[in-house]
Amino acid sequence: MIYSILGLHTRKNRQAGFYARNGARKRRKKMKLTRLSDRIWYFPMEEERDRPNLGYIRGDRWSLAVDAGHSDDHVRTFYQALEEEGLPLPALTVFTHWHWDHTFGFHAANGLSLANRRTSQYLRAFREKVAREGREAFLSLHESVQREYAGGRPVIILPADLEYEGQMLLDAGNCPIRVFQAPAPHTDDSTLVSVPKDKALFLGDAPYSVFETGEKDRALCRRLEAAIRETKAEICLEGHYGPQTLEKTVSDLYED
Ligand SMILES: [Zn+2]
Repeated sequence: MIYSILGLHTRKNRQAGFYARNGARKRRKKMKLTRLSDRIWYFPMEEERDRPNLGYIRGDRWSLAVDAGHSDDHVRTFYQALEEEGLPLPALTVFTHWHWDHTFGFHAANGLSLANRRTSQYLRAFREKVAREGREAFLSLHESVQREYAGGRPVIILPADLEYEGQMLLDAGNCPIRVFQAPAPHTDDSTLVSVPKDKALFLGDAPYSVFETGEKDRALCRRLEAAIRETKAEICLEGHYGPQTLEKTVSDLYED
């Protein structure tokens, strides 16, 4: 099945088909933070507006978010959920790749952003495209974008504040975090985030097919598998699916 025809990032998107067929909207339920481990929570994905899971890692000194979100509204609902749990706002947000649903909300976020150089280059290029061609250039990508940006919500694209290449080691306070680039079938700018003490790995959309074409390069899948296995994670969280074991994540990686 070619998911790009349905046009969402998710690979398990029967729900998306439902929206496409019926043009219907589910009543939006209030999302709550879900705890994955001692130091890790995530704010769950939503298919209607193609909102990905947003990760949250709490160190003793500061906190880190994995992905910013689709828009300012997505960031705000995430931060509300953090505040309800009494958790501090992230001082740093890492982008897993440049795609709008993971990054375009950052202008409403707290603190700084970190991305690999290529992700930042893609963000700059898309910002120039929108400046040249207008917001329609963005809204025409998919109806989920139109839903997210309904009512004239501003499109504000920021390249990352901090850029890295290869890998970067962080410590949020008794909480080492490894941020690193990995080859992946979805885009060529994937960043993974590993939290070794909690045996957790954030993958963004890395295991999915190419958004525009639905293609999935097997050689890139094998290289991503190696990068995933190397982390020895026990909990893996993708951009648009619930948490899974490493083995399930790897076996799903080879599904079309
Ligand atoms: Zn993506």
